[in-house]
Amino acid sequence: MSIVYINGEFLPLEQAQVSVTDRGFVFGDGVYEVIPVYGGRLFRLEQHLQRLARSLREIRLPDPLSGNQWQQCLQEVVRRNGGGDQSIYMQITRGAAPRDHAFPKQTRPTVYVVSSPLQPMAAEIEEQGVAAVTLPDIRWQRCDIKAITLLPNILLRQQALDQGAVEAILVRDGQVNEGAASNLFIVKDGELITPPKGPFLLPGITRDLILELAAAHDIPHREAAISPRDLQAADEVWLTSSTREILPVTRLDQRRVGEGKPGALWRKMMGLYQDYKQIVRERGELPAA
Ligand code: PLP
Repeated sequence: MSIVYINGEFLPLEQAQVSVTDRGFVFGDGVYEVIPVYGGRLFRLEQHLQRLARSLREIRLPDPLSGNQWQQCLQEVVRRNGGGDQSIYMQITRGAAPRDHAFPKQTRPTVYVVSSPLQPMAAEIEEQGVAAVTLPDIRWQRCDIKAITLLPNILLRQQALDQGAVEAILVRDGQVNEGAASNLFIVKDGELITPPKGPFLLPGITRDLILELAAAHDIPHREAAISPRDLQAADEVWLTSSTREILPVTRLDQRRVGEGKPGALWRKMMGLYQDYKQIVRERGELPAA
């Protein structure tokens, strides 16, 4: 049975409760993180906690736990759920209060942490890649905040699924920024390119690790705006996230990407990424550069 953390207590999932007046439920007023766990170790924990702290600052919600308290809480959830490989979801909302758009006078944030299984990449994806479609980005102007308010992302992802694809790649003002729940990379003439950080994309932890690995292994790379035309002309297209790692997109808008198979640079980066995971499994996270 899954054990969750809710407002200071560790409880079986079935016993965890929040008020129906919680602003997360009523308004989607909260932020979240998803952290993969390998061999019982929280992957890139420091980076995830930094991004969480930033999201909280941006929505003006004081962080309810210190860095150490977060660490202890998360490690305890991992331990109580058997260690090994898992995916940790954590959410902080502005708490229970009578419904009013204005912030409550006294906020008691609701803190929730839950573990779920981490699915390894299917062999079929490694061999054949996945399909994606481009769609207009209908989200708000602060996609850099990891907000729980995800209705546009949900509608976009479902539209992609309805078209037989696994992800929607989002176009705004003549630029492609990211997927509905993933960051975007393209490869052109041996160079890896990803859009620079800004208000229209989430600063992905996987994205940053891929850039770090590219730098450490002399893979040409650059942060630059990507147009729909660049995307269509790319030799490789990747979508990255903590739970799906690096997905090779081999069909885009019903057309083949490159040769229609996962590309050579994707294979190389996947190898580097898996090696990095293995180091973390065995020795823990290396200090951030
Ligand atoms: N962009 C969006 C909109 C996301 O929801 C996610 C992850 O869920 C990402 C990018 C990838 O971020 P990360 O690599 O930190 O999982």
